[in-house]
Amino acid sequence: MSDFDILIIGAGIAGASAGAHLARTHRVAVLERESQPGYHTTGRSAALFSESYGNESVRALTRASRDFFFNPPKDFTDGALVRPRGALYIARQDQMKELEDFIAALDVAADTVRVTPQEALRRCPILRGEAVAAALYEAGAHDVDVNALHQGYLRMLRKSGGQVLTNAAVTSLRYENDLWNVRTSAGDFRAGVVVNAAGAWADEIAKLAAVPPIGLQPLRRTAVLVPAPENMSIDSWPMVIDIAEQFYFKPDAGNIFLTPADETPSPPCDAQPDELDVALAIDHIERATTLSIRRVQSKWAGLRTFAPDRSLVAGFAPSAKGFFWLAGQGGYGIQTAPAMGELTAALVQGNEVPAHITACGVDVRALSPARFTAS
Ligand SMILES: Cc1cc2nc3c(=O)[nH]c(=O)nc-3n(C[C@H](O)[C@H](O)[C@H](O)COP(=O)(O)OP(=O)(O)OC[C@H]3O[C@@H](n4cnc5c(N)ncnc54)[C@H](O)[C@@H]3O)c2cc1C
Repeated sequence: MSDFDILIIGAGIAGASAGAHLARTHRVAVLERESQPGYHTTGRSAALFSESYGNESVRALTRASRDFFFNPPKDFTDGALVRPRGALYIARQDQMKELEDFIAALDVAADTVRVTPQEALRRCPILRGEAVAAALYEAGAHDVDVNALHQGYLRMLRKSGGQVLTNAAVTSLRYENDLWNVRTSAGDFRAGVVVNAAGAWADEIAKLAAVPPIGLQPLRRTAVLVPAPENMSIDSWPMVIDIAEQFYFKPDAGNIFLTPADETPSPPCDAQPDELDVALAIDHIERATTLSIRRVQSKWAGLRTFAPDRSLVAGFAPSAKGFFWLAGQGGYGIQTAPAMGELTAALVQGNEVPAHITACGVDVRALSPARFTAS
């Protein structure tokens, strides 16, 4: 039996960022079922930072994370964490209401400007004229180096004496004498606090601990990589996003990343792409652009796991001492990780949430798991 102050279940971006902060003041171990941290959703994202993406609560967390992405701590990473990309939101004639609804939020409007269809086609020359009746441009959207971010947090955790234990699948959780007894495939552990950062499996972990689940829903999203058109320089294209989020695409290291932005309910699992969704992704991009796709370079799928209100969850379970929820990262777990990691450490330690986070409009009550149990 090994004793720690805090056991974190899951070494994806959520567990890694929280662990990096908590290891400064506590004995921390991160328990990861896979042989590699980041094998599941963290390694499968579109890697975008956009302050316009998600609901109000998500946008506030993203704003609160901005400074970390642009000015990471010294020694966190060798290169930059973000690179300019830009996001171009396009609307067909029948999608004008969606465009007006999108820009109605004041914080979204502050970051995006209306551009003419001609300007949109100049930024992404493969777009078909009929696909762009109106457009918006968000210059502040950036590509994230997800691997650098994730590895940076894991390094920060280890530097403070924290441990990452891989091939350690949690199989049972029992609370006894003020301690959580955690059984894993790599041995037994004990700690006063357990942080549930198990992504798509977070409700399963709660059930093992006899804690009421939240009602998290993993939704599968498919990603397809296709070769860029010959004789075209694509690096400077923005991410092009259908205003109703029916598809999006962007340059990705010489190829084009595209997705039909599918949200297919799935049990927690090692998600695999469905051929129908791959075909749908290609159909969407061929309708909106002049591309004719002959070959798929690679394809994958990942689970974006949402709480019922699509806001993230951070806080102690109201009915179980020492059981902390860090879940429901949905499609925003990368861009919100800096604020979520710091905020989680503050809440676990019983401290005030740092002022720079609340100043961005983050309301911890909107993140609390109590919102699902209060009648
Ligand atoms: C196609 C796609 C595009 C996306 N695009 C973006 C984007 O542009 N920007 C953005 O911010 N986000 C994006 N996301 C979402 C983002 O990737 C996720 O929100 C984030 O990675 C979730 O991180 P996590 O740590 O919660 O989950 P995960 O990375 O899934 O980590 C959870 C970990 O818990 C472990 N685990 C589970 N059960 C156990 C157990 N019993 N014992 C031990 N370990 C366990 C798992 O093995 C896993 O490693 C996208 C996602 C997808 C699929």
